[in-house]
Amino acid sequence: MRIPLDSSPYDVIVVGAGPTGLFLACELAMRDMTVLVLEKDASPHSEWKCGLHGKRGMYGVPLVDAFYRRGMLEEIFQGHKTPSHCTRLEVQKADLSRWKHRLPLSTEFHLPAPMYQNQLEDMLCARLEDLGGQIKRGVEVKSFEQQDDAEETSVTLKTVDREYRCRWLVGCDGEKSNIRTKAGIDFVGTGPQFVNYVAECDLADPESLGEGLKPSANGFYITPSPGTVFAMDFSLDQQDTRSITREQFEQVMRRITGREIVVAKLRSCTATANDLRQAAMYRKGRVLLAGASAHHHPSLGGAQAMTVGLEDAVNLGWKLAYTIRGVAPSTLLDTYERERYPYAKEALELARVQIAANRPTAEGKAIKSIVRQLASSRENTTLLLEQAIGLGRQHNLNGSHPLVGYSAPDVVTDGGRRLGAVLESGKFVLVHFESGECKTEVAELSDKSSVLESVSCLPQANLELGAMLVRPDGIICWATDSSFNIEEASAALAEYIL
Ligand SMILES: Cc1cc2nc3c(=O)[nH]c(=O)nc-3n(C[C@H](O)[C@H](O)[C@H](O)COP(=O)(O)OP(=O)(O)OC[C@H]3O[C@@H](n4cnc5c(N)ncnc54)[C@H](O)[C@@H]3O)c2cc1C
Repeated sequence: MRIPLDSSPYDVIVVGAGPTGLFLACELAMRDMTVLVLEKDASPHSEWKCGLHGKRGMYGVPLVDAFYRRGMLEEIFQGHKTPSHCTRLEVQKADLSRWKHRLPLSTEFHLPAPMYQNQLEDMLCARLEDLGGQIKRGVEVKSFEQQDDAEETSVTLKTVDREYRCRWLVGCDGEKSNIRTKAGIDFVGTGPQFVNYVAECDLADPESLGEGLKPSANGFYITPSPGTVFAMDFSLDQQDTRSITREQFEQVMRRITGREIVVAKLRSCTATANDLRQAAMYRKGRVLLAGASAHHHPSLGGAQAMTVGLEDAVNLGWKLAYTIRGVAPSTLLDTYERERYPYAKEALELARVQIAANRPTAEGKAIKSIVRQLASSRENTTLLLEQAIGLGRQHNLNGSHPLVGYSAPDVVTDGGRRLGAVLESGKFVLVHFESGECKTEVAELSDKSSVLESVSCLPQANLELGAMLVRPDGIICWATDSSFNIEEASAALAEYIL
């Protein structure tokens, strides 16, 4: 039987409507790409993504910046200004003044904030719909073929009842990614180190677990509020069972605490035993990976899994769109893996340190004690925050100015707009701090107007900048302290745009 073909070829097909796939699809659709998201689950609201089980800490300052530059920050954080459920660093102690070029938002907004995965996905779906992108649910992608010789349509995807064609395919299909497996990309790392339980339950004796975080013989547990238990079990008896029974959970809690715990009623319980792995490459031909399909982190306090995935989407979206439009050099897409791989690797390393420090062994206790001592100083709290939430992140880009590679400061233009709002267009932005002085030179760049905007700002006392070129993802790729220089700005732009 011949499988019918979905009518027209898409610029990009994204497999997986999780946070990464949806945000990436938005980034592409806002640049007029034809995008289709294929999602195997028929319903967007699995138990896994909602309520207690769907609670996710957002740890990334770069992600906060990205939401801000899409006009989504207030909606997503909905006024949350408290640190998320599990980071244990004393954020107030950090020296935020070290980052004088950061967005001038309330410092509390720079902290991790809690979020429910289903709510985030709902917002991204609504945005994608507004931008003209499509989602098809209940469609599992089992395999695909790349046609190397075809110019226009290069990947064909096969599902049970239909074939789809696209120019580029992005696997955002999570840890067990079919796309990664079929592309033959290795997932390198280690297996699970512990099982994480999230339960809503009534205990026969509500006092039996006490309150707060309690280390124990086989792991530790937290009871943040009556009826809620988070537990980490290092004995690894239960393997990634997404729904477990009251009896199983009772056994788990007895094993972890070493005490007789009676669970009167278990309303819901999920268990995860996550690998720590990273894809050996993020691109093979016309197939790319982003989010959990490219790097998989354990679910424990300080894990940045979702955040790193969403940041992948911001980095990849404009590069893929400009490549498809034919306005970028063929090397641009390679910078996606070059820029993103190190951050997922760093996040995995941080997770490994956390696991080692939480292991219920003499070695684990020793590591934790030393990490605590080190983290007690202002200097080290700042250092750990820089790493854990990307506060001081600098991309390794060409350019000699010290601000190159950093997220751009949110300066106010002569027209009274913030740079964050200007970046909502998704283009490069040339900012010159010499009102009116360099209009003629800037006009020379008018043939780039489909990818470049130019704004002028009053000189900013705290920045001492003459001009800066900001990439569509908000990263400074050229800056000067002296006057605007058209040759330098054009050369910096030429690295990204033909
Ligand atoms: C208990 C728990 C707590 C967590 N806490 C945090 C936290 O505090 N902070 C944090 O940053 N992260 C946290 N995470 C991790 C976070 O949930 C993931 O990193 C994030 O969901 C990854 O997003 P993604 O879009 O890359 O992949 P996923 O969310 O896994 O989405 C992949 C999508 O692809 C679909 N799919 C899979 N295969 C196919 C196929 N063949 N065809 C079509 N569709 C397919 C899936 O149905 C799914 O919808 C936690 C995870 C768990 C389990």
